[in-house]
Amino acid sequence: MRLVLATRNRHKVTEMRELLSELAVDVLSCQDFAGVPEVVEDGETLEDNAIKKALVVAKATGLPALADDTGLEVEALGGEPGVFSARYAGPSATYDDNNRKLLRALNGLTGRGRRACFTCVMALALPDGEVRTAAGRTWGSIAEEPRGTGGFGYDPVFVADGGELTYAELTASEKHAISHRGKAMEGARALVRRLAESGRLPQESPSATS
Ligand code: IMP
Repeated sequence: MRLVLATRNRHKVTEMRELLSELAVDVLSCQDFAGVPEVVEDGETLEDNAIKKALVVAKATGLPALADDTGLEVEALGGEPGVFSARYAGPSATYDDNNRKLLRALNGLTGRGRRACFTCVMALALPDGEVRTAAGRTWGSIAEEPRGTGGFGYDPVFVADGGELTYAELTASEKHAISHRGKAMEGARALVRRLAESGRLPQESPSATS
């Protein structure tokens, strides 16, 4: 079976390919197709955005498409940046801009004041419009300063519960073992496996991981 990753983020493509590697599925990306439209991420929730991205790409390519939408919610900021994580420091913000703004917003806070979680929602859509989702969440805290060179996005400032290293200080496989995306992919892999084996999606989405 061929599957298209409904993202243009090369870091996500790399991580999603690694997480799908045990399945006998030919994993393609939007770059393999001409004319896949850009998707405006204007949904109110991560799930809305993941579903929208997966449906647009499945319809444009005629193949099953798997999308990921991720948000970082910081308790002291009332859940911000959440669904706006990519644009936290502005419409063309870089990863560094977002991390700097976040560290400034938490200046002076310690301990529970730096509590945060990453949530990832994956959506698997078929060209006929059928869609299922799978979610994963990892709790942790925001570091005092960026550390590490691995990963992408907010990885240098996020420390998952149970460890002291930021996501960016972990190897790729260490991050996958505990990350929001790794957990969401457990459910998504089950959906992809079912589709590859039977040509159909299960009746319902797997229950969300928390
Ligand atoms: P989106 O899912 O592409 O909309 O990503 C939202 C924001 O979260 C972007 O700024 C990403 O760089 C960031 N992000 C997504 N996944 C991760 C991750 O695994 N680690 C750190 N940052 C991430």
